[in-house]
Amino acid sequence: MENVNDSEQVAPLMRVCKKCKATKPLAAFRYTLTRAQAKQQGFVGKHLVTAEGKVCKECRPKRKPLSKMTNKELTQKASTGDVHPLVAKMRIEQNKRDANLLRKAGRVNRWEQIWAQEWEDVLAPMKTHLRKLNQVKRLAKLYGRKSKHIFLDFYTAALRKEMARLTLHYKTQLCRAPYTRWEEYVPEDVRDKIDDAWLAMPFEERLRMRGKPDMVNYKYDPDKYLRKQVKNTDALASRKALLGKPAKIPRETPAPVPKLTPHKIDVGHTPKTRLLKGEDVPVLREPPVKEEPWWDNL
Ligand SMILES: [Zn+2]
Repeated sequence: MENVNDSEQVAPLMRVCKKCKATKPLAAFRYTLTRAQAKQQGFVGKHLVTAEGKVCKECRPKRKPLSKMTNKELTQKASTGDVHPLVAKMRIEQNKRDANLLRKAGRVNRWEQIWAQEWEDVLAPMKTHLRKLNQVKRLAKLYGRKSKHIFLDFYTAALRKEMARLTLHYKTQLCRAPYTRWEEYVPEDVRDKIDDAWLAMPFEERLRMRGKPDMVNYKYDPDKYLRKQVKNTDALASRKALLGKPAKIPRETPAPVPKLTPHKIDVGHTPKTRLLKGEDVPVLREPPVKEEPWWDNL
């Protein structure tokens, strides 16, 4: 009986792959040569030539797909005839469109950074306020001021929750912060609950507390802290601020202004002409002669 697994007895229409050692039909080893490869093997290169390789289709290193080729490679392939010139042209145009989209995505991403910065600026005072009140709460507990501790415990927990909600909101929604103050973002029911908790504290305790917490009796006014509509110039300014240094424009250094120095007269020099009486300096310039009208001499 014939041993089917013996490679020497495999039918000639089958071949063993050199790499994966699998026995496969010859069709799996056939591949089309590129124009350059065909010419190298002595063909004219006008028609597509197939060859049989030593490794199967799966093991053959994959050719670079058209979608991953650069514009330069596409032009080259078009010139050798491996890619139809029209296909190469369309691909190059597509690549250019993609590059523009990528650039646009970059711009959008920068806007998102600006918006996130706006939110962080809004939430930073809230964070500071919370930290401060947490400390006050700890001291209240330490000094046994029970009602104050109960109020602050409720207050800080409510604000912590609000802060978590707002942080999640701005990190997922990618939008602008409509108000410039964090208090405006606390919903009405939470504000009411805080006011109730404040009133539940004994009057003396409320009086003893130095400074009311920010959210107690907060006067809600949506128009007051509404962020202004962005003008084009504002957007540009904020973007410039974010992107860093302003562009350096080389300027010509202005020529130094000559200093006005008093004219020095050389006193040691003896003038050849005799000095007239009353003249203590040598005459450097003739005084302007007043022209008399010609008819005076008549
Ligand atoms: Zn293989």
